[in-house]
Amino acid sequence: DTIGANLDRTVAAFPDRDALVECETGRRWTYAQLAAEVDAVALGLLDLGVAPGDRVGIWAPNRAEWFLVQYATAKIGAILVNINPAYRVHELRFVLDQAGVRTLVAATAFKTSDYAAMIEQARPDCPGLRDVVLLGGESWDALVAAGRAGDPARLAEIGAGLSADDPINIQYTSGTTGFPKGATLSHHNILNNGFFVGETCGYDEEDRICVPVPFYHCFGMVMGNLAATSHGSCVVIPAAGFDPAATLAAVQAERCTSLYGVPTMFIAMLNDPSFGERDLSSLRTGIMAGSPCPVEVMKQVIERMGMAEVTICYGMTETSPVSTQTRAGDSLERRVSTVGTVHPHLEVKVVDPATGTTVPRGTPGEFCTRGYSVMLGYWNEPDKTAEAIDRARWMHTGDLAVMDADGFVSITGRIKDMVIRGGENVYPREVEEFLYTHPDIVDAQVIGVPDDKYGEELMAWVRLRPGAEPLTAETLREFCDGRLAHYKIPRYVHLVTEFPMTVTGKIRKVQMREESVKLLG
Ligand code: ATP
Ligand code: MG
Repeated sequence: DTIGANLDRTVAAFPDRDALVECETGRRWTYAQLAAEVDAVALGLLDLGVAPGDRVGIWAPNRAEWFLVQYATAKIGAILVNINPAYRVHELRFVLDQAGVRTLVAATAFKTSDYAAMIEQARPDCPGLRDVVLLGGESWDALVAAGRAGDPARLAEIGAGLSADDPINIQYTSGTTGFPKGATLSHHNILNNGFFVGETCGYDEEDRICVPVPFYHCFGMVMGNLAATSHGSCVVIPAAGFDPAATLAAVQAERCTSLYGVPTMFIAMLNDPSFGERDLSSLRTGIMAGSPCPVEVMKQVIERMGMAEVTICYGMTETSPVSTQTRAGDSLERRVSTVGTVHPHLEVKVVDPATGTTVPRGTPGEFCTRGYSVMLGYWNEPDKTAEAIDRARWMHTGDLAVMDADGFVSITGRIKDMVIRGGENVYPREVEEFLYTHPDIVDAQVIGVPDDKYGEELMAWVRLRPGAEPLTAETLREFCDGRLAHYKIPRYVHLVTEFPMTVTGKIRKVQMREESVKLLG
């Protein structure tokens, strides 16, 4: 199926069910209303001259129009280009040019970002950019009005000519390890992945999914939106940007059954002053994903948020994104400490990164996957594509994983983050998990810094509970002594109140390393 055909099917099955709610404005749409709105936007884009295969950029935080444009572009076979809401003008210019964006739909402004002004600055350097449509402005109203006057038969005609294997979306990776890459995905890639995420979460038309993670990222647009629309569930947008209090309030007000977040978002919600006042009893399930999910945080989400069936997903933009997921029926131990088992219809293997041979179960190696979920490639980057996807179509993820005898996978880190201290491989993830057991530590991140004697030394960046006694390298060493092998004990401690992060809420260890080198001078 194409995404448009799949949406049509859901609309026919559940016309009067809620499809989308935007909490900040109180706007809401049933599936029938949503379908009318999506068709108007699709016809409006056609009216602007957008043709199948053209790139349509979307640059906005989470708001209903983002969702409408996602489905409208899919209906007409245009390629949606997700643009990171945190970008500044030079990054915008890069993406508009790299993806060859013809039509850009953008918010006028958000927080400190004046999108309209930045677009004007970038425009002279982007000759391929034909139209800019500003949300909330006249150009958006004109697009929708033209679309309402359009002929819906054109959509059916275009829809019939589309193939599920056509590229439909260019999603830039989070940029955790460097500059983002434009993963090019088909209907087949992301619709199937969204569908299987929905299956694993047990969604149906009764479910209401609270999505505070960015639509810009596959966590929002695939695991949120496509999982919902392929099952008749409703997407609830708590706020344009992530706000822990607004998210908790939205769960209560909309009686959400599912809640998403990267670990740092769940930590923020659990520690929010409003947490105790909120009725979260409607929550049944949810997804934590995007970066390593600490066992302690998972336990608190289950116990204090009542998300008895919460799951962990592991994946990457290049694989649509999800490869493995825990399931409600797995043992509690595995649900908090692994990323689950492989999704249906995918192959996985764990290989020795040096030789490429498959390692035995229980041995760490690089996680590789093959199947419907693997992207078409990086947009206009054949060399980077060839580095990531080998000739047998295996995607090499750059993530280190261990698979146990029953097929449960644990992510032990990224190849790029592994620290080699005096010849010993240290997986920062393991040290971080241990530090989380310290009563005063709210968040801990471990990196390697250059060292003359050992090649690399470990440094822990630590966020303490408010009011806690300051922690020093000595007191941390006392805590670790005898419980962690000596070479895994951080030599340096740096106390922080926040970590350098990507807009998807991932910690940028590259930036931490750069700052640490300066700190150590
Ligand atoms: P870039 O590729 O631009 O450096 P990125 O890899 O963070 O950024 P994404 O595609 O958003 O971009 O994230 C995928 C990565 O996130 C995975 O490769 C993995 O390292 C990490 N990840 C995702 N889910 C999990 C999880 N449940 N546990 C551990 N790591 C995870
Ligand atoms: Mg990546």
